[in-house]
Amino acid sequence: MNLQTLLPLLVPKAIAWAQEQSHLILRSGVSLNEKGTALATHVGVAKPGLVRIQYVAELPMPEDPLLREVAGATGLIGPNMAGITLGYGIFIVERHADVRLISHELRHVQQYESFGGIEAFMPVYLAQIASVGYHNAPLEQDARAHEVHAI
Ligand SMILES: [Zn+2]
Repeated sequence: MNLQTLLPLLVPKAIAWAQEQSHLILRSGVSLNEKGTALATHVGVAKPGLVRIQYVAELPMPEDPLLREVAGATGLIGPNMAGITLGYGIFIVERHADVRLISHELRHVQQYESFGGIEAFMPVYLAQIASVGYHNAPLEQDARAHEVHAI
């Protein structure tokens, strides 16, 4: 599977899925508490009041077959992933919830803010993963660099 050549097909599907899931989280997720708000501010989130976290047993897999395959192949959504951020919505796998993970995902919120939303963030993020892989993607490196280990 060549991710680079699949990107034009993949990006619109990923944006649609991310928007749909983000809406669900914004409807039923929890707002940040005082510590979460402090953490969000610390990693540069401009509007912590808009963030919602949905705690789940497992990350939801997209129904679209191509998205599913890519999500699995890249490891973006799979057994080793503990969280995913979609705009102001964050999924956190309950058993992995800790300050490091939440600060990492909050930094992704800051990235979405600076890009101006899901439609602008997703093409860049997926292009990075297609070219250098998940671990070396600059947006992932930036999120790791902003992780907080204790508050
Ligand atoms: Zn990340």
